[in-house]
Amino acid sequence: MPSSLANGPGIRCCLWLQGCSLGCPGCFNPETHDFAGGASYNIDDVFGWIREAPGVEGLTVSGGEPLQQVESLMELLELVRSKTDLSVLVFTGFPFEAAEQIPSFWKLKPLIDVLIAGPYVEGLAVRSSLISSTNKTLHFFSNRYSQADLATVPVSEVIISASGDVSVTGIDPVSLR
Ligand code: SF4
Repeated sequence: MPSSLANGPGIRCCLWLQGCSLGCPGCFNPETHDFAGGASYNIDDVFGWIREAPGVEGLTVSGGEPLQQVESLMELLELVRSKTDLSVLVFTGFPFEAAEQIPSFWKLKPLIDVLIAGPYVEGLAVRSSLISSTNKTLHFFSNRYSQADLATVPVSEVIISASGDVSVTGIDPVSLR
């Protein structure tokens, strides 16, 4: 998605990576779980789309589970870091302690400004500030953003394109009939 207001601070380009084996009950992106689903894209092409996104201040990566494609994610974010001024926000369903056990994680951290970590837990559901359940934790790896910057992010967003396509995103996407 080239432009979104509901996936992090400011206007952001958003990328959803396909495939997740974590299986959180109540996940609202079940269509992203199948590792054979989605479509394959060349990393340079994806970076090209991100760079061409108009008027954005950052990139948000969600899923699916981004850390289950960690090597490709790192390759992409190295391009973003070295060739743009875009900020980077990443969602992961792994608790932070588990994410830290991923061998490449230490190389990934400097490429990320904000990490939102932890599985979605239905019994702890809350709808605010990019946090979908209260067990999730926020990690700021740079001083680009603070918790206050995340507090004003809308919980839902509906985008209707000129051709009539409707996209619904956010931490609490509205249901359409
Ligand atoms: S980690 Fe995210 S995509 Fe995977 S099941 Fe949990 S909420 Fe859904």
